[in-house]
Amino acid sequence: MSHPLLICRDLARHYERGPQTVRALDGVSFEVEQGEFLALLGASGSGKSTLLNLLAGLDRPSAGRIELEGRDLSAFSRRELAAYRAHRVGMVFQAFNLLPQYTARENVALALVFDGSHHGERRELAAAMLERLGLGERMDHRPADLSGGEQQRVAIARALVSRPDLLFADEPTGNLDQENSARISELLAEFNREGLTVVMVTHDRSLAGNSARRILELEYGRVVDERRTRGEVSS
Ligand code: ADP
Ligand code: MG
Repeated sequence: MSHPLLICRDLARHYERGPQTVRALDGVSFEVEQGEFLALLGASGSGKSTLLNLLAGLDRPSAGRIELEGRDLSAFSRRELAAYRAHRVGMVFQAFNLLPQYTARENVALALVFDGSHHGERRELAAAMLERLGLGERMDHRPADLSGGEQQRVAIARALVSRPDLLFADEPTGNLDQENSARISELLAEFNREGLTVVMVTHDRSLAGNSARRILELEYGRVVDERRTRGEVSS
């Protein structure tokens, strides 16, 4: 078996709220293997977003550590951390977070601005990724003129256009109906089969079971269950 891509060791994140300490994460340990599809399942407030933000290098743990390919993430320089976020990681959120004044194509192309690629090249890559996601006819639309499912597919295109090897998705189907949720999770599974490592946060047990190959369940900042799904067994 290959070396894990990410290892969390006894990870904690505490927030001081007045005289109170909120233990958003309280001693979490697990590994993410290269190429896997992991779901982080838990009720609202169980610490899922806190954990995802730590994995993505957007926040630092109060205790414990995260290792990326054996290297302590907290020992990364500011520049190394920025490179990790820009080139290795793609992120998708519940609220899509597209820029309203730009078209779908421009939103996706903007993700390549710091790659040093040329304007024309960025437009080509953005178009190709949007076509792949079934949005070839919608490229010149602004977010307000797209459905929720379409907006989330634009957000996925934006997250993946720079070809990261890790995708972190925080409740990516939280604002979508059942049909669009299934389509989004099937798209993530498709990219995963091509080698993308996916960590998806959800509170939807059946969505987790249908798409991920392993489920880690959180409760009050702790891992309370870990299991393989049927997909993993049969593959
Ligand atoms: P989830 O994504 O599973 O809904 P979160 O990770 O957002 O959970 O939050 C976990 C806990 O940490 C919650 O009790 C939440 O209120 C608290 N929390 C999250 N962010 C902050 C913050 N910036 N300051 C204080 N408490 C926070
Ligand atoms: Mg959350």
